[in-house]
Amino acid sequence: MLDSVRLRLTLWYVGVLSAILIAFSVAIYSFAERRLYERVDTDLYSTLTAISAALKHQGGNGEIAGPAAAKVVQELQRPAQAIAIFDAQGKLLAEHKTADGVRVRLPPSGVASLPPTSFYSLPEQNPESDDSCRGLVGRMHMQTGTSPYTIVINQELEPVEQNLDLLENILYVLVPATLILAGLGGWFLARRSLQPVAVMSARAQQINAENLDERLPIGNPRDELGRLATAFNELLARLGSSFSQQRQFMADASHELRTPLSVIRTTSAVTLEREDRAKNEYKAAVTIIEQQARRLSRIVEDMFLLARADAGHPSLQITRFYLDEVVTEITWAASVLASQKNVHLAIPSPPEAPFQGDEGLLRQMMWNLLDNAIKYTPKGGAVRVALAVLDTEYVVTVADTGTGMPAEVQPRIFERFYRADKARSTQGSMSEGGAGLGLPIARWIAQAHRGRLDLQHSSKRGSIFVVVLPRTGLSAAQAAE
Ligand code: ADP
Repeated sequence: MLDSVRLRLTLWYVGVLSAILIAFSVAIYSFAERRLYERVDTDLYSTLTAISAALKHQGGNGEIAGPAAAKVVQELQRPAQAIAIFDAQGKLLAEHKTADGVRVRLPPSGVASLPPTSFYSLPEQNPESDDSCRGLVGRMHMQTGTSPYTIVINQELEPVEQNLDLLENILYVLVPATLILAGLGGWFLARRSLQPVAVMSARAQQINAENLDERLPIGNPRDELGRLATAFNELLARLGSSFSQQRQFMADASHELRTPLSVIRTTSAVTLEREDRAKNEYKAAVTIIEQQARRLSRIVEDMFLLARADAGHPSLQITRFYLDEVVTEITWAASVLASQKNVHLAIPSPPEAPFQGDEGLLRQMMWNLLDNAIKYTPKGGAVRVALAVLDTEYVVTVADTGTGMPAEVQPRIFERFYRADKARSTQGSMSEGGAGLGLPIARWIAQAHRGRLDLQHSSKRGSIFVVVLPRTGLSAAQAAE
């Protein structure tokens, strides 16, 4: 039950509201209680001052007689007050009962011990009569040097208590009623504000690999739910594009694998058709099969490398070595093929370039670049390799005087399986034709070493590829990240 956000929101809302309402009610009640009791004391005091002033007026400077005192009390009485006046000897001079007939009650400690003006409270004497009261004792001298007269006034507390009871009852009804209404309102509001979530989750449940182009509805794109839906839709878009990339990769891969496989199948089928074949015919057939198998395994290895890189487990073998040696050695190895094709390939003599990284992968990167440069450079052309040591970077340049690439092709050459000129790229190279994976792999290798590989320039007079690598290389810890 508590797993519902709607219920939790409502409970939180009601909980916080009830804490506020209870604190508010307690504050109101105590404020009213204080004010009402203060009011009783003010009434008592004003009666006392009025009576003493009237007695002084009546009596002049002498004694005051009982009837005169009774007259004063009669005139100044209030219905909820009981009054008693005692003369200097402590004899009751005049008395007045409340409208309910309740007589004055003296403080339990007696009057004599109290200061000249003292308030006191008396609890109910019996539970039925509700006769709790507040009292005030005042003493006044009719003449200096004589004993004082004592005026005792009681005021019933029943009206005050009735008012407080009424307030209490109002609060007891009002607070729960407000909470119930607020709870219902909160429940309804929570339902309204969570409605888009229900719609979104219903829609999200219908989305799968087949309909990744569907999107969640967005009510207000600026509110929290709108932003959530937007983020989810962006995620769907990213998933959709990587799904279609994946599909494209599968389609391209199977296409690339199909050609050598069908060559192998046809060659073997044709060869096996007749039994009386000459030795050299078998040799020719096996040579074709071997070439195609090599091409197949090269494609599969490249795909495997890219798949591992995509999965984030490229497992680089980090060692310390000299980049200049790698560049020189790969150029030497490629020079054999360059001379077969009659392409001039100068062996560079780069400055010392200590480096840390995966030597095997960097060799493969150099190999892919040189392979392309020789492959796409016609007879009589030249390929030039250079390594420059800058402050923080090594810059390796592979430049050729080949046919170059049209401008519209250049942005796509680092895409997987992309080949600008399929017929040309699958013949006459040391790798027996590329599958369009050479450059993506080379770029990934540069990036895995925190560097980059770019086509700097390409025109009908040739192309220049540039690899930039940080001189610090790659530590084992960085490679594992
Ligand atoms: P491939 O295996 O087909 O060579 P790559 O990924 O190595 O695949 O290269 C992709 C495409 O880029 C090639 O098909 C080719 O059209 C173009 N390309 C690469 N290097 C060169 C170059 N040095 N000169 C001209 N075109 C090039």
